[in-house]
Amino acid sequence: MVNNVDVIVFGAGIVGASVAFHLQLKGREVALVDRQRPGEGTSFGNAGIIQSEAFVPHLFPRQLPALLRYAQNRSVDASYHPAALLELAGPFFRYWQQSRADRAFEIARKRAPLISRCVTDHLGLAEKADALDLLRPTGWTQVYSDSRQFYRDVRDLDRLRSEFGIDSEVLDSRQLALHEPELSQDFIGAVHWTASYTVSDPHALTSAYARQIEKQGGLIRIGDAASLEQAPNGWTVRSTQGLISAKEVVICLGPWSPSITKRFGYSSPLFVKRGYHMNFSSKGDVKLNRPVQDVGGGYVLAPMRSGTRLLTGVEFARLDAPPTPVQLARAEPAARRAFPALDRPLDPKPWMGSRPCTPDMLPIIGPAGRAKGMWYAFGHGHQGLTLGPTTGALLASMMTGEAPFTDPTPYHPDRF
Ligand SMILES: Cc1cc2nc3c(=O)[nH]c(=O)nc-3n(C[C@H](O)[C@H](O)[C@H](O)COP(=O)(O)OP(=O)(O)OC[C@H]3O[C@@H](n4cnc5c(N)ncnc54)[C@H](O)[C@@H]3O)c2cc1C
Repeated sequence: MVNNVDVIVFGAGIVGASVAFHLQLKGREVALVDRQRPGEGTSFGNAGIIQSEAFVPHLFPRQLPALLRYAQNRSVDASYHPAALLELAGPFFRYWQQSRADRAFEIARKRAPLISRCVTDHLGLAEKADALDLLRPTGWTQVYSDSRQFYRDVRDLDRLRSEFGIDSEVLDSRQLALHEPELSQDFIGAVHWTASYTVSDPHALTSAYARQIEKQGGLIRIGDAASLEQAPNGWTVRSTQGLISAKEVVICLGPWSPSITKRFGYSSPLFVKRGYHMNFSSKGDVKLNRPVQDVGGGYVLAPMRSGTRLLTGVEFARLDAPPTPVQLARAEPAARRAFPALDRPLDPKPWMGSRPCTPDMLPIIGPAGRAKGMWYAFGHGHQGLTLGPTTGALLASMMTGEAPFTDPTPYHPDRF
């Protein structure tokens, strides 16, 4: 049996589910195809922060002391596989070039049209998918032990507020004790990003968006994008429930996108920053009020439906290299000191995900140059959960010929 739809969206992560959702809202018949169930890739296990403050991206460190510290490969916030360095040298060099201090605000201005809508766009989809209970208007908090680092970061807040309207509040240790009573009193201060939302179960959120697509008549199918073929009038792919054909396809395969785009003549400079998590129970079932990042410690503790989630920083490695969750082991003692209620691990093994990153810290959204009827939406790096619905809104307008809410040129696939 052949199912004919208007658009096949590959990858049922938060980006693919949001793209399919928006296309459907514009009247397109869609099939969302993944080799797993929705939300089981990188979108499964993140920190759940819809980062409305993330205008300035995660830069490659450029100061010598930081580079020397990372070179020792013993940090919690960044680690690397020496065997991967040669392969990563090209994208790293471009990432390093783009991370100059004077470029950071230029890039932030290109990210602004997307980041500034992220909460509104999530709320819109979550309402339609009956998933508002998963979103919390809590903001998230960065806590500091080092006063020099604290005051340096606090100094930047005025510029962030005046240029991008980012709201935050600075807390001293006494205010922090009221804000997060379960946190140790060892921190000297904190910055609370007040306007960000958080998600109590990122997997459930993507699943809810996918369920809603199905309710509205869309197809959710298991299938491998490797079976994608160009046909005289469009495209076909094999799924476990038969062949699907469509005029147009969208590649939203997150870190796996290059494996498919290469076949059709597009080679992106995508690289991955892997990360790990472990969920824990807590003594007395107490929880933090919101995600907390220990800036000096390099880890995040996030209250989730499933427990308290400990997440690590970045690991530079090949996408398919076996997991090496050393950063989790390094972070755990500090996390236990910071949140003394942290109790038993709840997962049989650490979860690993791979952030799909581009050297210019902007996502790739737009038409594939060479393959007619193929579109791209991937490369959201540290902010894929944040930007999924906004990406869906932008790409769906472009595909249906409507005026997009912003000029999409900065995200064009051919910019590299
Ligand atoms: C530790 C960690 C913490 C993070 N915290 C945050 C956060 O707080 N806020 C935030 O905004 N972002 C966060 N991120 C980043 C965010 O999780 C990602 O950017 C986002 O999940 C990427 O979504 P995606 O849909 O592009 O990719 P994915 O969710 O990976 O989806 C890609 C899909 O493609 C499928 N696929 C792959 N190959 C094939 C194939 N051949 N055929 C069919 N299907 C295929 C996969 O099964 C997968 O479901 C974090 C990431 C990590 C690792």
